[in-house]
Formats: sequence, C-alpha cells, structure tokens
Amino acid sequence: MSESGPLDPFVSPRFGQIATFLRLPHVRDPKGLDVALIGIPFDGGSSYRTGARFGPREIRVQSALIRPYHPVLKVAPFERLRVADYGDIDVVPTSIERTYALIETEIGHLLGHGVRPIAVGGDHSISLPILRAMARQHGPVALIHFDAHTDTWDEYLGSKLYHGSMFRRAVEEGLLDTRHTIQLGIRGPLYSSRDFDFQAEHGMEVIPIGSIKEQGSGWVGERFARLAGRKVYCSFDVDVMDPAYAPATGTPEVGGLTSFEALTLVRALRGLDIVGFDLVEVSPPYDGPGQITSLLAANLLFEFISLLGLRSLQ
Ligand code: MN
Ligand code: MN
Repeated sequence: MSESGPLDPFVSPRFGQIATFLRLPHVRDPKGLDVALIGIPFDGGSSYRTGARFGPREIRVQSALIRPYHPVLKVAPFERLRVADYGDIDVVPTSIERTYALIETEIGHLLGHGVRPIAVGGDHSISLPILRAMARQHGPVALIHFDAHTDTWDEYLGSKLYHGSMFRRAVEEGLLDTRHTIQLGIRGPLYSSRDFDFQAEHGMEVIPIGSIKEQGSGWVGERFARLAGRKVYCSFDVDVMDPAYAPATGTPEVGGLTSFEALTLVRALRGLDIVGFDLVEVSPPYDGPGQITSLLAANLLFEFISLLGLRSLQ
C-alpha cells in the first residue's frame, strides 16, 4: 500500500448524494492509488438489448450497503489497499473506434502508475481496448473469462467490432496468452458446430456450464490454478448468470450460475496474480424487482477488491 494510508469508504450511506462505487471517495489522480474502479458507460457494441451504458450508474447505487470485511476470504481490503472510484471514462456513444482509443489511453495511464483497474461496463466490447493497454504494460496476459458466450465470433452483419468478437480480435492482435486462457460458463445455442474450432486451434480451455454444475467449484479452482505465476486478466460477463438471478443483461441465456455459485467461483481465483478485472453487460433497464442484477454486480466488485487485498498480504 502506498504511504498515505487507506481511503476510508465507510461513512454514512449518503442516500441523498450521487453515489460512488462502494461509497468510495472519488479520486481522478492515479498517483497513490492501488485499485481504481472505473465506469465505462458504452453499449455501442451490443447486438441485441442495449442499456449497459447505464450499468455503472446503477451499480454505484446498489453498492451502498456493502461492508468492509470479507469473512470468507478473511481480508479487510480497504485496510490493505488504497481503492477509489475513478469516475467514468469518457466515451463516444456513436463511435466504437473513438471510444476504444479513449479507453486504451485511460487504462494505460492507470497501469503506468501501477494501479489495478476494475472496469465496470458497459457492454463486453470494452474489454478489447483494456486488453490492448494490458498487453502494452505486461505483454500477452492469461485470461479467465466468465460468460455464457465465447465472444470469439468473427463478425456480426459485417461488423468486426462488437460485443461478440473482441476476444477473437484480442487473439489476432497477440494480446492474450491463449494457452493460459479459460472461458467458463459457456452454454446456449450456437451459430454452428464449428463455433469452438477457434478455441481448439489456439489452445484455449472452455469449461461449459454443465462441467461446473457436475464437477463443482473446487474442480474449477484446480483448473484456475494452472495459471498461477502468470499475469491474469479476469473478465466477467454478467450473462454467465442464470437470468433468474441476473435478468438485466443484453443477451440472456437460460441455465446459468446461481449467485452463490458465482461468488464461490470468483473466490476460487484466490492466489492468482490478477492485473485487472472487468464486469460487463449489466443493463439496468431490464432488471427485476430490487435491481437484483446490479446488486449482484456490486457484490462482485467487493469480491474482486477482496481478492486484490488478499494478494497484497502475500
Ligand atoms: Mn455473454
Ligand atoms: Mn460476453
């Protein structure tokens, strides 16, 4: 942790004020930060239901109740790390290319100061410019990717950049260590029987939802363990969840994770050197009563921060 001590997020809930992630202070200067939560309110890469641009706003609101100590991981992350809400990255709602340039610059700026970013989307297309910045800083990174979909399709109606193609682009650009890439929670109807050829060709591991349900989180944790010692990026698409637990997403697929399974699987990342997270595809206009998807997302942010706090103990 940097010398100036922890930033204390645990003041009054401030119900009447504009929310920040986990009631953290808003800090736009990366100097002295260890972890930055960043909103990326862009959904111009969505192929179906839009609205993920409102994800950061609602997840901030739903994060107001989260407390500072993690009893399962046994860590008080805000005592170990200086964590802040960095605010939103500027986006251009009508241009994915210009938005990508802005995201890459801003994430690169944070990485240059040694800050671990936790990006809150936004649709999943935002992962590509983040990975460009990551690879510039760290070289090709290992990837753990929670999703119902592999997001390695080539194009959509002639468009190469959208929220179903960014991991193929990332592989083409040499941003990923594909033999240390794990995609999990995969399910649902595909375009063809050849949709996994790309994974086979590049040595990417796919864990379908059925394997998680049958073998359990302990087994998944063993799969994760083979990434130990590498720089790992973690991308969490909320559509890995069953829509019963997280209806607010752009391309829902039935038969996914429960909230408890998601928490358990994220905790199974402990011990890995995670250089950044994103949490994407929360589309609040489709949420159920109680804003359950955004509430889950807010809790996942606390899980991510706790994992980074745990790592700082080592
Ligand atoms: Mn997905
Ligand atoms: Mn996705």
